[in-house]
Amino acid sequence: MEKFIPDEGRIKSTLNNYRRIKADVEETAVKAGRDPKDVRLMCVTKTVEAQYINPVLDDGANLIGENRVQEFLGKKDDLHLDKVEKHLIGHLQTNKVKQIVGEVDMIESVDSIKLAKEISKESVKKGVCTNVLVEVNVGKEESKSGIYIEQLEDLLFQISELPSICVKGLMTIPPICDNDAQVRKFFAIIHQSFIDIKAKTIDNVSMDILSMGMSADYEQAIMEGSNIVRVGSAIFGARKYC
Ligand SMILES: *Cc1c(COP(=O)(O)O)cnc(C)c1O
Repeated sequence: MEKFIPDEGRIKSTLNNYRRIKADVEETAVKAGRDPKDVRLMCVTKTVEAQYINPVLDDGANLIGENRVQEFLGKKDDLHLDKVEKHLIGHLQTNKVKQIVGEVDMIESVDSIKLAKEISKESVKKGVCTNVLVEVNVGKEESKSGIYIEQLEDLLFQISELPSICVKGLMTIPPICDNDAQVRKFFAIIHQSFIDIKAKTIDNVSMDILSMGMSADYEQAIMEGSNIVRVGSAIFGARKYC
């Protein structure tokens, strides 16, 4: 096999991007009147080769997000993951659950009871407990996965009955918006829902993590209470899908 030679210039710019965004996340948290330690930066590493990811991990990044089960399993052995938390953030099909349970620290994209049941079943079999977030489709877009906010509480109560699966919070991807105010409104809706659910006591359901904000809108998300921002292209550059 031909050896993949990484581009030194790209490694350098990736590291610069990571450091700049890390600093910006902290500054934005302070601006929002929050403790910068409460907002984590996730590096979204989908489609990126290990040779560009490892320098960022070696520089202190401690949370990565991958979209596809196959891609993650294929490259995880090449990644410097000793001190790194791994989250699955892409849509998960029930037939892939078997392969991913036990391989990641969190599945952020649970959006149906069918998927939750499969995760529960597989977790019991493997003797692990799987932490998940419920993905909310805040803009009710047909093109996106995620549950509608009206059905959220119902789903949480159903999941709370299942063994070996714990809900830790919510994840969302808002619609593409024309301006900051518009996108902030979507984030605010989910934040309010997060607060409302937190106030209730549901077995195996805690509202600790609010995962929202990506390259284009992470600042707005931090202003509206996000504690994990998922940043891909602003760190690694535009993605090339093949
Ligand atoms: C790809 C992806 C991201 C990162 O998107 P960027 O715009 O590149 O920052 C965040 N969250 C999810 C669920 C994604 O699929």
